[in-house]
Amino acid sequence: MAYFFPYSMKSFLNGFSFLRGMPQPYKRSRSLRRVKVKVSGGRTVTHYKKRKPGKAKCGTCGTILKGTLRERPLKMSKLPKTKKRPERPHGGNLCSKCTRSLIVEKARSQ
Ligand SMILES: [Zn+2]
Repeated sequence: MAYFFPYSMKSFLNGFSFLRGMPQPYKRSRSLRRVKVKVSGGRTVTHYKKRKPGKAKCGTCGTILKGTLRERPLKMSKLPKTKKRPERPHGGNLCSKCTRSLIVEKARSQ
């Protein structure tokens, strides 16, 4: 038996989606995103993951900020600070245009 089935019977049956039956109700909704993951053994499995948060926006003009990551809080806490926002004054809060105009305005007022 083991010779004909090198992997377990359960993983063999998992190859046929029609044999596994209906997915659990929370897996049927689209509130979770589906990520196809290739596992060892050559199978491709669908992993259900929470959706990523929205993109970071500029504090004054509201444009989408470049150089900022879009990840879940747990992954963000594990990443270095330099990967999360650009290394300049007001990086990650204001866009480059607004930062420039703010610096120019401050220099003129002094
Ligand atoms: Zn801006």
